[in-house]
Amino acid sequence: MLAEHSGGTVSDSTRELLGKAAELAGGLGGTAQVAVLGPADLAGQLGGAATVLWMDHPALAGYVPQAYEVALAHLLAERSPRLLLLSNATVGLDLGAALAVLWDAPMAAYATRLAVEDGVPVATCQVLGGKALAEVELPGDRGIATVVAGSFPASPPGTGTAPEVVAVPPPPGLDGVATRLRRVIEPEAGDVDITAADVLVSVGRGIGSKDDIEIVAELADALGAALSASRPVTDNGWLPKTRQVGKSGLKVKPRAYLAFGISGAPEHLEGMRDAELIIACNTDASAPIFDVAHYGTTADLFDLVPALTERLNG
Ligand SMILES: Cc1cc2nc3c(=O)[nH]c(=O)nc-3n(C[C@H](O)[C@H](O)[C@H](O)COP(=O)(O)OP(=O)(O)OC[C@H]3O[C@@H](n4cnc5c(N)ncnc54)[C@H](O)[C@@H]3O)c2cc1C
Repeated sequence: MLAEHSGGTVSDSTRELLGKAAELAGGLGGTAQVAVLGPADLAGQLGGAATVLWMDHPALAGYVPQAYEVALAHLLAERSPRLLLLSNATVGLDLGAALAVLWDAPMAAYATRLAVEDGVPVATCQVLGGKALAEVELPGDRGIATVVAGSFPASPPGTGTAPEVVAVPPPPGLDGVATRLRRVIEPEAGDVDITAADVLVSVGRGIGSKDDIEIVAELADALGAALSASRPVTDNGWLPKTRQVGKSGLKVKPRAYLAFGISGAPEHLEGMRDAELIIACNTDASAPIFDVAHYGTTADLFDLVPALTERLNG
């Protein structure tokens, strides 16, 4: 598997893959090996893996897809793993298909479950934007799976036996990588992390305008909740992109998710369907959000939201 990291810390998705990689490796009669690209010393955060394959080179100083492709293609040719695990997020989606071609391997994308059955890796994958699932096998001697965030429990940092670190000399191809990372532009600081919120009040296009977001923000305040949104709301600039839930936003798993004026498109559901409690308000009784909601109402949000806020504040 590939360790994704930034600022010297491995990503949550990498910690989610660690335990699963060890389990699958056991089932396949091998060991879990983690590729670490770049200067960071991450071995202490990758307990549970047997080996860290560490490669450093100036082209790997930051994430550059072409450089990562060259480095990983080299490691795959040299090590011939049975299965490569990547996150199904920006990095994994960039690299998975390219490596499947370079390494001539089958790939299962959007995997939410992985197991070894009769010696063969089997992946359960989301298809049609998460409306259906497909179970696929990766027979033969190699395969790639990209795993949806939140599918497996994350290993807490610093747990498990420290892996052996093997320094792998970089291949000459890295000298010819045409793209160099100049700088990383961090998102605006100070905004709320909606993935860490216990309760989310989420607003969709049904709110109609930026000015009316305020009524939902007041309800969120009254509940001590964070405010999140569907994509049209962030696309319109009514809330920052950091508040977007869904396929091209953030995956959230709060204790309670209150959806106001959100239809429940598959791309939105992908980001919130694992919330413990979902409450939806939508004037259209046939809106698909009601298929995942535990409680729902067809009240008009412009009647319900101020009344709720008043009750909570009163
Ligand atoms: C590749 C791709 C990625 C995407 N990624 C995301 C993503 O990350 N997140 C995301 O959310 N979407 C995403 N989308 C967009 C997604 O397909 C939907 O278009 C979007 O989720 C719809 O947002 P919505 O529910 O707010 O709007 P709509 O579908 O327009 O729904 C608005 C709802 O509000 C209800 N409503 C209207 N007035 C009221 C009222 N007064 N009171 C109560 N209810 C009312 C309506 O009945 C309607 O159901 C993506 C699409 C693609 C193709």
